[in-house]
Amino acid sequence: MEEEEKTPEEDVELKRYKCEKCGNVLESEDEPDMCPRCGAGSEEFIELKD
Ligand SMILES: [Zn+2]
Repeated sequence: MEEEEKTPEEDVELKRYKCEKCGNVLESEDEPDMCPRCGAGSEEFIELKD
């Protein structure tokens, strides 16, 4: 049995996405479906790179 609760964050490379609509920045493995702040769709997100 595997525990769903533990987060395997060591191997996960998080990317940063910025919502162009409200400026909210999210850290996520994949492009977010929706902005939790303003509700914008994934098309509003741009990936931030260093
Ligand atoms: Zn937003």
